[in-house]
Amino acid sequence: MPPPLFTALLLHWFHQHGRKTLPWQEDIHPYRVWVSEIMLQQTQVKTVIPYFERFMQRFPDLASLAAATQEEVLFYWAGLGYYARGRNLHHAAQKIMRDYGGCFPQELAALQSLPGLGRSTASAILAICNGQRLPILDGNVKRVLSRYFGISGYPGDKKVEALLWQKAADLLPHADIPAYTQAIMDLGALICLPRNPQCCKCPVQKDCFALQHQQTSTLPTAKPKKAYPTKEAYFALILQDDKLLLEKRPPKGIWGGLWCPPEFDTKAELTTFLQGYPATASETRTHLFTHYRLLFTPYWAKVDTQFCHDKNQVWIPMSNLGSQPVARPIQILLHAAPLLQKKMSL
Ligand code: SF4
Repeated sequence: MPPPLFTALLLHWFHQHGRKTLPWQEDIHPYRVWVSEIMLQQTQVKTVIPYFERFMQRFPDLASLAAATQEEVLFYWAGLGYYARGRNLHHAAQKIMRDYGGCFPQELAALQSLPGLGRSTASAILAICNGQRLPILDGNVKRVLSRYFGISGYPGDKKVEALLWQKAADLLPHADIPAYTQAIMDLGALICLPRNPQCCKCPVQKDCFALQHQQTSTLPTAKPKKAYPTKEAYFALILQDDKLLLEKRPPKGIWGGLWCPPEFDTKAELTTFLQGYPATASETRTHLFTHYRLLFTPYWAKVDTQFCHDKNQVWIPMSNLGSQPVARPIQILLHAAPLLQKKMSL
């Protein structure tokens, strides 16, 4: 059976306009493609490129990633956000070394069972690296297919997702799978944009349901709105001489495994922790997580050697702050530390 028109047009477009020089498209290897696919989840290509290159310099292969400490992996991930991705990547590398003798599993089920690897990412690795005839369905592809076929309903809904998987499978060509896989990703990333899709440049515009029915702005159906709660937090940035008190967060949860100043849910808890040492608040900031908005207020205090802190908290010399893996909002706070230290010692 010849491939559907969509497939033929898309492949033709890709060979002329697709992206072929991204760092992970050179020297194609499952390890490199895997790392790039995980980094690209929730993150744009231009942000990922420098992170990918630094990561590959430090961890050029599975063995070097598996042998590293989680702390070092998170250091190279710091700033990319969604830190569970970095932790899972590290765990999965260790599992491949231990259970598969360091060779990437070649079967979808095995690959999909690794931490952090869903069906679409596992399929993308096998399709791009081995040419296995497997459909992918990441966020970009969901958007393209919802619009092209006019599939309404939130794509995260099980029934809608199952229909999209079926459509994605129906469109697969019988050859040229690596190019097709990259092509459908590129169509979503470059042309069929979430807002203002570039339909006049789209290779499949003639048969696109959303374009023909003026539904490009309503498809795919948006996620049903849930309450987006706000939480408050108070950070104690405590200076002692030229050191700042930090603690390593538990491995799971928000900013898991990263370093952070002591955090409190209430101002009263922070005040107790400060043991009577005076503190100065700086402006309250906002950080948006997937499920809630965090309003956090940093309090700066200068203490002497009598100050008692918990066992899991460590004094880090100011000159070493840059070598700890920390989340981006905390990194911004820490940049202010040397200046604050100078002001406080006046
Ligand atoms: S015609 Fe427009 S809406 Fe339809 S697939 Fe192409 S870019 Fe997306």
